[in-house]
Amino acid sequence: MTLNVPYVNLSGEAHALKNEMLAAFEKVLLGGDYILGPELKLFEAEFASYCQAKRSIGLSDGTHALIVILRALGMQGGDEVITAPNSFIASTSSIALVGAKPVFADIRSDGNIDPERMESAITSRTKALMPVHLTGRPARMTEITEIAKKHHLFVIEDACQAVGAELDGKRVGSWGDAAAFSLHPLKNLRAIGDGGMVTTNNPELAEKIACERNHGLINRETCERWSFNCRLDELQAALVRIQLKYLDTWTEQRRKLAFRYNDLLRPFVEVPDEGVGEKSVYQTYVIKAERRDALLAHLRENGVVALIHYATPIHLQPAARSLGYSAGDFPNTMKHVGKIISLPLFPSMTHEQQDRVIELIANFYKK
Ligand SMILES: *Cc1c(COP(=O)(O)O)cnc(C)c1O
Repeated sequence: MTLNVPYVNLSGEAHALKNEMLAAFEKVLLGGDYILGPELKLFEAEFASYCQAKRSIGLSDGTHALIVILRALGMQGGDEVITAPNSFIASTSSIALVGAKPVFADIRSDGNIDPERMESAITSRTKALMPVHLTGRPARMTEITEIAKKHHLFVIEDACQAVGAELDGKRVGSWGDAAAFSLHPLKNLRAIGDGGMVTTNNPELAEKIACERNHGLINRETCERWSFNCRLDELQAALVRIQLKYLDTWTEQRRKLAFRYNDLLRPFVEVPDEGVGEKSVYQTYVIKAERRDALLAHLRENGVVALIHYATPIHLQPAARSLGYSAGDFPNTMKHVGKIISLPLFPSMTHEQQDRVIELIANFYKK
């Protein structure tokens, strides 16, 4: 009998928390306070503390978390923000949506943006650097924050994939002027739907962002500037608060599985070893493989759900046409994108499931 291996196990993992979640649902339902209520306040305090940041603000999703940060920092037409070409599209779309110009810098072999190339991309119009902690691996924040200081730029962390990740013991979300997190169900800390968070160590910026997510209102009567309605629901806050208690356990499970994959896959493919000082949280477990497309087909034909994050880099998306980039602009990114596969990895994954994935990869290269 063949064993199918799913990419994630959301419904299976939900069972363990069902009673606690239903109790939280009932509490919010009967409490009658559905927007900007007490659960959100508590979650914001707990999340800030988890990220080693002074403040956090609940948003409707990670994309709006990025957008309100950019708006609160004053980004507008003509301003340039430097970010990674190999990310989820929202890293770039958020910049374009506030009227600023996304500028890309190529990546290192670990898949994260290269600080030296970021510095080379700085012009007189550059206002901010936006590194992405891709796959849950922290970007090179020591160098990036130094470059930002030298050139008087803001640092916005796209930490949407990386809650809990650390560099030299310092958590993502505590390095830059502000950071965006996603609570999308495929990220490590899950809403039952969409959700997002901002963290910052700057209380003034926190107030601005709280205003940006709530129609630009500074109090019940006064609208300071036109803005969105993009708040995290009270219900989602209550449900995510429960999951936050389990996050460290889930992260440890992810890391153990990742290290086991590393050990057993090393003879066949390039594995994502952690760099010095890095603690990755493996939102995705990405290998680099020779004959990638054939290996991916082999896995899928044998019941393993493996994916590519992301097959088309952002600078080659139709939406990015007006930015004027071409395929040859970021050779490291193109080389990377041609080899990557995201293998199944989730907290409740069994060794039996993991062995099946490893066996298929081993067989593929032994043939
Ligand atoms: C998921 C993600 C986002 C967007 O978050 P949503 O909650 O889906 O809006 C932004 N950037 C990166 C790197 C992401 O992975």
